Amino acid sequence: MSYSPNQSDVNCLFCQNDIVEKYFFAKGNFVAIYNIAPVLPGHSLIIPLKHFETIDELSDSELGEMMIFARKVTSMLKKVFNCDGFDWTVQDGVSAGQTIPHLHLHIIPRKPNDLAGAGEWYSHIPENEKQLIDSDLRKRLEEEEYMAITLRLREEFLNLK
Ligand SMILES: [Zn+2]
Repeated sequence: MSYSPNQSDVNCLFCQNDIVEKYFFAKGNFVAIYNIAPVLPGHSLIIPLKHFETIDELSDSELGEMMIFARKVTSMLKKVFNCDGFDWTVQDGVSAGQTIPHLHLHIIPRKPNDLAGAGEWYSHIPENEKQLIDSDLRKRLEEEEYMAITLRLREEFLNLK
């Protein structure tokens, strides 16, 4: 089974084949990719292959599938990154800070005292969204490092399945 975007929008970052094919876990209509500029180690994105802009556009079964897929990804990230909690966040709509008009769920693994304040991650999300779009921003991982993490996760996930 190949995982490439369907109903793709040529102008949409998450409808680009070269983004989606970097998934580390894929099932059904969803893929998990590693964040190119992780706020914390393990920061990943859950993305529908279909171009949905908001949660509203998902059917009940697609929404269920997305949550079940995301829970599977968190349970596996927990083993790989040895974390004990997760922040889940969706910027659903422009007024909520959505910058990429393709639904995506941020999954951020958490450990005790990993940030000065437990809610501090949230203030990093708008900046992170910009980093996903702008390849010139410095906090992004180098392509080589990024692919090394992705391939490691892909392998670990295969073994954990
Ligand atoms: Zn899209």
